[in-house]
Amino acid sequence: MMRYQYLIFDLDDTLLDFKGGEIAGLKNVFAKQGFDTVLQEKAFNEYTRINWELWSAFEKGEISKQTIHQTRFDKLLVSLGVAGDGSAFERQYREELNHNYRIIDGAEAFLAHLKQSGYHLIAGTNGEAQTQHLRLEHTGFDSYFEQVYISDEMGVAKPDPGFYTQIFNENPEMTKNNTVMIGDGLASDIQGGTNFGIDTIWVNFTQTPAPETPQPTATVQTYKELIQQLS
Ligand SMILES: [Mg+2]
Repeated sequence: MMRYQYLIFDLDDTLLDFKGGEIAGLKNVFAKQGFDTVLQEKAFNEYTRINWELWSAFEKGEISKQTIHQTRFDKLLVSLGVAGDGSAFERQYREELNHNYRIIDGAEAFLAHLKQSGYHLIAGTNGEAQTQHLRLEHTGFDSYFEQVYISDEMGVAKPDPGFYTQIFNENPEMTKNNTVMIGDGLASDIQGGTNFGIDTIWVNFTQTPAPETPQPTATVQTYKELIQQLS
């Protein structure tokens, strides 16, 4: 008897290597804009800081996602003291992300195993619709998922319980006992699953120290441990 029948999976940094793609994408944008290697390095570090600050403000509800996209590269250019058009950087960067097909080592065999074992696999991601669809298609991961839910298309994002309400409404066989949320994001995946009242499994590949809240039902550091946790 399987503990769960429905597995809702986060994608970025749970199955797809978003960080790896982000680093490569930024380097390409900076190179295309004519930054030399020293400036590229500096720009990368500054961007990471600025982007993190903006996403933190977004998660607190202080700014919109659009504001992040419209301001991060302009802020970067100001901080570097370089003249340029931030929106052109943003456009190029988005192109890069749309063609980012990196997957985490072992993710494909892992998904194949779960599908073969009879689990219902559902993707539940916060992200840009076009970017996520293209990545699922190009990695071939779309063939493993019965359904794909993207916040952009739903009008609601994790950790809002409304994100899960929509998924459950479309899957009458799903119950809070036979479904688990699996992901690397504490503020999105673990908090979201907790808010809705389903079990959560925190995928902690980077061995980050666990905070006091939110508390996942289980924590795993490898796909192998995740399979053990599910059975
Ligand atoms: Mg993630």
